Amino acid sequence: MANRSALFLLAYAAVELSTHAFAQLPQPDGGAVQPGHLPASWVTGGPNCLEMQDWEVHQFNPDFFILRESGCTNYEKPFLYLIFGKERALLLDTGAGPAQTYDAVYRVVNRWLEKSGRTSIPLVVTHSHGHGDHIEGDGQFRGKPGVQFVEPTVAGAKEAFAIKSWPDTNGIIDLGSRLIDTIPIPGHQEASIALYDRLTGILLTGDSLYPGRLYVNDWPAFKSSIQRLVSFTEGKTVTYILGCHIEEARQPYLDYKVGTKYQPEEHSLDLGRGELLELNAALQKMGSTPARAAFRDFTIWPKEHK
Ligand SMILES: [Zn+2]
Ligand SMILES: [Zn+2]
Repeated sequence: MANRSALFLLAYAAVELSTHAFAQLPQPDGGAVQPGHLPASWVTGGPNCLEMQDWEVHQFNPDFFILRESGCTNYEKPFLYLIFGKERALLLDTGAGPAQTYDAVYRVVNRWLEKSGRTSIPLVVTHSHGHGDHIEGDGQFRGKPGVQFVEPTVAGAKEAFAIKSWPDTNGIIDLGSRLIDTIPIPGHQEASIALYDRLTGILLTGDSLYPGRLYVNDWPAFKSSIQRLVSFTEGKTVTYILGCHIEEARQPYLDYKVGTKYQPEEHSLDLGRGELLELNAALQKMGSTPARAAFRDFTIWPKEHK
């Protein structure tokens, strides 16, 4: 009996370790999320802009699409996310000027409808935050039939996602058998928000964490936001952390300078929770003194962003 108890305790300790201490899963089985794939590389901007499409569309899986704006249209070349539930679709961001975003998005929506044997689906248009390179196409969606438009403001996000106390409580949106958590993360910009898609385990972090220059406008707010993201993700399956730009090169600690269109050796889009923890640890260590600091996959950059 003593041996059996000891074995039980050992097994219990192992489960505790695997599910709590490391906050992850007991088995390497894919994590019971909807799988998908990311491309090995993305089109950036050129080298010959005459050959470029305005948008690159990537199907992560049949209900999750990533659109990247061409660097030939705007050097910011942001990533947009289009996610389908059973009752609604959600678009995160509308691009940098002068983008023809509506047509590109509805080409995907219409193909999805055709494939699903449906004739329409309402589209929620919302934003990672309110900077110009993420809202330029807003006018193409606002007031359009079938579009629920969320203004890129704190008030807009609070109302749309039922966030009671900004930024301390999270909200949620149900796209129909698809719940997406919305986590206020002001600091890069006052209306910054992260989205967590429970079906794929993807965390969308906008301009607050991506392989590039993390511009911090409100240092105390940014620090708290990143800490809240760490707490939120504790114990959850996080398959990919996807932001809205790539500015780092594949070479560690190296970025492409502001304004670069063509990035033939750019970093992958995805980061993981390890980078989130690394960012949080660095911010905690810096305390109340903002400082620029380069890391392998991102750079902390306290300054005005546009
Ligand atoms: Zn921004
Ligand atoms: Zn941006």
